[in-house]
Formats: sequence, structure tokens, C-alpha cells
Amino acid sequence: MSELISFEPATGAELWRGRTSDVDAEVAKARSAWPNWAAASLSERIERVRGFANRVRADLEKFADVIARETGKPLWEARTEVESVVNKVDISIRAYADRTAQRRLDGKAGTRSALRHKPHGVLAVLGPYNFPAHLPNGHIIPALIAGNAIVFKPSEKTPASGQMLVDYYHKAGIPENVVRVVHGGPDTGKALSAHPDIDGLLFTGSAQTGIALNRQFAHRPDKILALEMGGNNPIIVWDTRDIHSAAVLVVQSAFLSAGQRCTAARRLIVKDDIYDLLVSEVKKIADRLIIGEPYGEPPPFMGPVIDNDVCDNLIESFLALMSRGGRPIKHMQVPIQGRPFLTPGIIDVTDMQDRPDIELFGPLLQIIRVADFGAAIAEANNTRFGLSASLIGGTAQQYDEFWANSRAGIVNWNAPTNGASSAAPFGGIGLSGNHRPSAYYAADYCAYPVVSSENEVPKAMIGIGMKDEETAPVAE
Ligand code: NAD
Repeated sequence: MSELISFEPATGAELWRGRTSDVDAEVAKARSAWPNWAAASLSERIERVRGFANRVRADLEKFADVIARETGKPLWEARTEVESVVNKVDISIRAYADRTAQRRLDGKAGTRSALRHKPHGVLAVLGPYNFPAHLPNGHIIPALIAGNAIVFKPSEKTPASGQMLVDYYHKAGIPENVVRVVHGGPDTGKALSAHPDIDGLLFTGSAQTGIALNRQFAHRPDKILALEMGGNNPIIVWDTRDIHSAAVLVVQSAFLSAGQRCTAARRLIVKDDIYDLLVSEVKKIADRLIIGEPYGEPPPFMGPVIDNDVCDNLIESFLALMSRGGRPIKHMQVPIQGRPFLTPGIIDVTDMQDRPDIELFGPLLQIIRVADFGAAIAEANNTRFGLSASLIGGTAQQYDEFWANSRAGIVNWNAPTNGASSAAPFGGIGLSGNHRPSAYYAADYCAYPVVSSENEVPKAMIGIGMKDEETAPVAE
């Protein structure tokens, strides 16, 4: 077992230190605890997860502090993440009842059938770093309500937030072995996902990792695999009188959370004749964004990206786009040497040959200029991903056309690409997922349906295809 250290991106200070975990031992603990948890009544499981929500609510500031320092996101944003953790409980209770509740089915005359759901068993959960509490919690709470035990591996970049989340489950009386945490990097993730004693894997992270996991699970159709991955999300701006609002929506979509949201807009597709007005307004607003540390005053719009490697890769990507014909509108800069703060980068890639269809996970927006609406939709769909897509401006008819032809799981009009509601299903198509949407629909992959025909006594007869019964000779 080796050491794992988490540093605050904004300051470089050490935040957390621990050891990588013994995956076998943790899976064994979860497996031993699972039957009792599955056998507990639904109301008991609900009471425990409600207790968790109350604990987290009471500790909101403390939890937000750790999330903010570990991810670098502004404190106000970390608070909204903790609120999402709390709200997830009621939403998941509703979703469980709505999607997987017990139901009586109409059977043939005189028969009764029931539809019930059973938990899978021990589920592994792999989390990303950008929402280190909300996203794993979005798998864990529905899975616990359904009666599963959990082995959760937080991102190696956010172990403190992951550990704290698990501590809250335990403090709320969810048995310690029902939710286990394993710390470590990709190797620990590989060991957990390949473990023979897990019954499934609920993953949120990059498409690259998700594809590797999909390959690994190809010969295990018996295990549930839910993949929530990234996007290369388009935002189209069409005819609108309110260029300022359109530009604000673009900036929010592209740069909130320093662009580290799976639903962030990566590609701005804009109509020729409003290009100059819109792009100069986007640039003007982006120039005014405050980039600072979580506790900065005045509060920042966005913090740093997660670490220096990610920061360097983003700058390299910007330069690579430039070297292949991209025209910089706003250069990415590192305002504090040695720290991963980045100013938003904006680049026009209209004339670039072979634009790379990859997710650049940071504050980097590419612009593509188009002449007609058909070309805008074609450009929006010009990606292997399919998570979110927005149209800003345009007519109701154009929105209908956009909606009908967009290949994405979230399609918005005059709203940002990000900020999806937890009370709705969340997921994408293409390389953004494997058709197992999460959030409200997470209930679906946390339990499997069992249909039963049930009669109190075994009463049966065969009506067709039988010889007459031989009648015994009558004694004379
Ligand atoms: P990542 O794929 O690098 O890591 C996610 C988790 O998988 C981590 O816990 C990591 O340790 C583990 N892991 C990495 N390689 C592995 C392997 N080969 N086998 C098993 N486990 C492995 O993702 P990240 O960089 O932490 O997070 C950012 C990514 O997550 C972005 O692509 C973003 O779009 C995506 N994301 C998606 C959603 C969604 O709901 N669709 C939400 C947030 C983030």
C-alpha cells in the first residue's frame, strides 16, 4: 500500500494524507454486510439516508470548506454542491417509489401477479474530481435505498471529500460495512472494477476510462455497468435581440467551474451575421470574470483547474488548435506562476481542418461560424459525444427543429448547457454514456425487476390436449 496525498490546487497546501486501500478486504466487508442491509425494511433504509441528509445539512459549512479547498472551486459553488448532496436523498426516495415500487399486475382470471425489485448486491462506485461529493452520492444514495452495499473509490485527486462523504453515511447509522471507501488511483480503480465479488459498477468520469471499463465488462453481461462520461457540447447562438444575455449564457455554459463540468459548452456555433457582436460581447464578459481562490474577496466566478498537469495540457491544447489553423480570440493565461489558475481561452476554429473531437476539460471555448441553421445543427451533431446541447435565440420553430435533430441527452433552449436538475434523468448518448442515465433514473440501474405469479394454493388443470380419463370397469 502506498501513500496518497491531496493538495489544494489554489494554494498548493497539503490537505489530506492517507494510504491506498486493500480492495479485497474492503469488498469482503461490503459483501458480508450486504444481506442484512438488503433484508432491512425499506422504511429503515430510508430513515438512515434521511439521517445522512440531516447530518450533512447541519455540517454544510464544514463539508463545503473541504470540497472548496480540495477542488479549488469557489466556496459559494461548494455550498451548492453540498445542497445537492442533501437534496439527492428526497429526490431518490421519490424516484425509487416512482421507478421501482412494488406493483400488482393484472393476471388471468383468478391469478395474482406482483412486480417487485431486488438490489444487485455489492456495487462499486468510481467518482470523478469535479463534483467529488455530489456525483458519487448520486449513485450511492439510490443504490443504498434499493438495498445494495457499496465500495466507493473517490478520485485520487479528491480523497478528502470522498472520505468525508463516507464518514457522514456512517455517522447517520448506515452500518460501516455497508459503505466502504477505497483510496487510490487508476490501479485501485482497475482492481475494484475487476473484482469478482462485485455485482456491478457505477462510474462517472472520462470517456477514455469509461471505454476501458466497457471493454473490461464485455464478457460479464451478468454485471450491471452504468457509465456517465464526458461531452463535447455545442451551444448555438442564432437570431436574438438580446446579444448580452446570449453572451452571458455562453460564458456561464463554457466557464462555470473553470469549464470542469461534463455539460460545459465546448463549441460555440454562431450565425454569420451576429458573429462580431456576439463574440466581442462574450470576450468582454469573459475578460471581467474574477478568477480566484475559494475564499477570495470579492468572491470569484471560478477557481483554478484541478492541478498543474491539467493546466499544462489545456495550454498545450490551445496552442495545438492555434498551430492547426485556430484563430485566438482570447489567449489562455496562467496569472499565478506555478498554480493552476487559468484565464478563459476562446479560439475560432472555423477554418481549421480536422477539428479534434475530444473533450477539453477546462475553460476553453472553440467557436465555429456558420451561414444557415441546417449547418448549425449539423455542426452541433458533429461529435462522437452527445451529452448536452443548447440553442440560444432563434424561433420556436427553429427550436423544434433543433430539438428533433439534436443528438444529446439534454437539449435546452435559451438556457445554459450545464446546471441540469437532479430531479430529472441525466445522461447522454454517443460516447457520453451507455444508455443508463443517472440522477432521477439512477433507481433503474440500482435494482432489477422480479415478476411473480402468486396463488395461495396450487390449483391447476389442463384444459386441452388430454385423453379422456380411463374409467374403471364397473363391478357387476
Ligand atoms: P477519470 O476517468 O480520469 O477518473 C474517474 C475515476 O476512474 C477516478 O476515480 C479514477 O481513479 C478512476 N480510473 C481512472 N482510470 C481507471 C481505469 N483504467 N480503471 C478503473 N478506474 C479508473 O475522470 P476525471 O478526470 O476524474 O473526471 C473528469 C471526467 O469526468 C470528465 O471527462 C467529465 O466530463 C466526466 N464527468 C462526467 C459526468 C457525467 O455525469 N456524465 C459528470 C462529471 C464528470
